Amino acid sequence: MSHIRPPADAPVMLRADGLQKTFGSNQVLKSIDLAVRKGEVLALIGPSGSGKTTVLRCLNGLEIPDAGAVAFDGGPAVTFDSTTTQKKAQVLRTRSAMVFQNYNLFPHKTVLENIIEGPVQVQKRKRAEAVAEATQLLARVGLADKHNQYPHQLSGGQQQRVGIVRALALKPSLLLFDEPTSALDPELVGDVLKVIKELADEGWTMVLVTHELAFAREVADEVVFMDQGVVVERGHPDVVLRAPENERTQQFVHRLL
Ligand code: ADP
Repeated sequence: MSHIRPPADAPVMLRADGLQKTFGSNQVLKSIDLAVRKGEVLALIGPSGSGKTTVLRCLNGLEIPDAGAVAFDGGPAVTFDSTTTQKKAQVLRTRSAMVFQNYNLFPHKTVLENIIEGPVQVQKRKRAEAVAEATQLLARVGLADKHNQYPHQLSGGQQQRVGIVRALALKPSLLLFDEPTSALDPELVGDVLKVIKELADEGWTMVLVTHELAFAREVADEVVFMDQGVVVERGHPDVVLRAPENERTQQFVHRLL
């Protein structure tokens, strides 16, 4: 099944306006605007250090932007300034879930414990219900027999599929993927991309930071190219990845494709 674009009138699931972030004297995000409609897949591409991970971390409340606003599903915007507390930013974590480059699984917890930690401890859902859902999700990604294993007993591709299941178990409105395959051996990349593609086909809304431009072209509805903390170009994958207008985008995609 190929990814069906969400209809033009699909509601906006995520809106970020004017996100700015400075670390020390390094202005990493210079005013980033993003909008993602329900069911849409947005691929965020750009050179290393351009600010892509920082965008995801701001959307997820892992970093507090210095300025800007983030709103989910037409709800009230969370606005940021120099006085914004971590607690306020963490509200965003109830709406999105992140899949990390290095999986970020708890090494001393089993696969199952890793997955149910958020639903049970943070969302206060019933343990039996969380276990049942985790079991179903694990089966879906081909890991039905791995419940009681520890992360180090799994391959990188298996660990990342657990990372994806852990995000899904939170039932977020938005999935954030931060270069989900870049730590994997090449032969393990395909299994993880397959799961991400299936989720896109199912209609999950997602923002995907990736260097896999061929995959971005296959799965994304919109591609955003960032460089040095600004959005340089955005549009349909066939345009941004095949015939970009901006010279910096051209250089970047020609190097990688
Ligand atoms: P990308 O994901 O595009 O590679 P990042 O968002 O990871 O870019 O990083 C953008 C810039 O911000 C880099 O120069 C990086 O060193 C810097 N940076 C990111 N996080 C921090 C941090 N916590 N403290 C200081 N500098 C940071």
